[in-house]
Amino acid sequence: MGAESDWEPRAVCRRLEPELFFEPATRSLAKAACARCPVRAECLDAVLIREEGLRVGDRSGIFAGLLPGQRVALAKRRAAQTPPAQ
Ligand code: SF4
Repeated sequence: MGAESDWEPRAVCRRLEPELFFEPATRSLAKAACARCPVRAECLDAVLIREEGLRVGDRSGIFAGLLPGQRVALAKRRAAQTPPAQ
């Protein structure tokens, strides 16, 4: 594991059971937690970087309120919007 980012102590999921974010039965609770999380944007950027290049089947859990397939779709949309390096 790497060093903790400065936003991580403010994450709502810090005060919840991690399994909540990985079980289909608690998906709505996890999404609700992410919806009220003050560091959702930071979490989203971090997870997209961490999962870069992974197939959807190699991703798991809900992060920033998004399921693995939703994160793949968002990463593709972001990549399509990013201009090529000069
Ligand atoms: S947005 Fe990210 S940091 Fe916040 S509760 Fe959801 S998974 Fe945790």
